[in-house]
Amino acid sequence: MTSPLIKIDDKHIPLYRVVWVSDVPHFCGEPDCMHEGDYEVRLDVDDSLWTNSKGRNEVLKSLARWCGDPKPDDDNQESDPTDW
Ligand SMILES: [Zn+2]
Repeated sequence: MTSPLIKIDDKHIPLYRVVWVSDVPHFCGEPDCMHEGDYEVRLDVDDSLWTNSKGRNEVLKSLARWCGDPKPDDDNQESDPTDW
């Protein structure tokens, strides 16, 4: 059984805490922004984690798996044309 945990940055997060995952890299124009180009993973209770595009894809994959993707271990096979 797939564990409902995902590693984001250096933190292991239960998938049920993820509210949404950014589709585009962060840009806010702040000169001292620490997360320019990172993808935001929004957690419940006003908290966010930041990751790169690879990490963000891992989060999406794990979420899909956790939500009942019928082929959880078939990472390389794109059976659904609308899939990411
Ligand atoms: Zn920013």
